[in-house]
Amino acid sequence: MVDVFPVAALKDNYIWFIRNGDIVVVVDPSDAVPVDQTLAAQGLKLTAILVTHHHWDHVNGIESLVERYRVPVYGPKLETIPQCRHGVIDGDTIAFPDLDLAFKVLGVPGHTSGAVAYFGAESLFSGDTLFTAGCGRLFEGTAEQMYTSLTKLMSLPPQTRLYCGHEYTRANLAFARAVEPDNTAIAARIRETAARRAHGLPTVPSTLDLERQTNPFVRCSAPEVKRAAERQARRPLCSDTEIFAALRQWKDIY
Ligand code: ZN
Ligand code: FE
Repeated sequence: MVDVFPVAALKDNYIWFIRNGDIVVVVDPSDAVPVDQTLAAQGLKLTAILVTHHHWDHVNGIESLVERYRVPVYGPKLETIPQCRHGVIDGDTIAFPDLDLAFKVLGVPGHTSGAVAYFGAESLFSGDTLFTAGCGRLFEGTAEQMYTSLTKLMSLPPQTRLYCGHEYTRANLAFARAVEPDNTAIAARIRETAARRAHGLPTVPSTLDLERQTNPFVRCSAPEVKRAAERQARRPLCSDTEIFAALRQWKDIY
């Protein structure tokens, strides 16, 4: 049985541990120290490192982990990642027989130009592309690339669990409510998120189904979202991509 759990790192990053028995793969190890501590405390054996994109807060622990555990690093072929000798691109499959698990690689440019996401065991590791109730900033890609990437992720089965790279849900939902003040699913999610955070619990994972109901960035075809984006942009917006671009600009200054 594959089981996934987070280890909090840095200010608001999550390092995801994907475990079967005592074998584990980690995703985006931003810091080696909490990874070491968790492996030791739970008697787990690290077998590989997966990386979604090259940003410091996702790769900073790799060198020290590789030095210590000699494990392979998988990451976007189109980016420079420390110790990464297994470059992956859209359409690749990575198998981990000792975890009885395989991941499909999805190329998701937008936040960075070579970013990838990993899908396996009904779980999506989206890095900083699709967030709970939000999406990553456009650091290297265009709005069109990012919207295409988000659409690709949202085409996965609705029950897919979404594991993203940061705990940003509360702030993202405040923006979602500004876009759609009358969306009752957003209001319910805000209440649930506040309750979980009050107990110090993570609000990740969510599901793609919940994102479809509450995440404005994947709701560009909803008439309310279009109207709000047009009001903010002060002009008519003629495609979902234009609506997405207006929302992303709005969020950048929100
Ligand atoms: Zn990033
Ligand atoms: Fe990040």
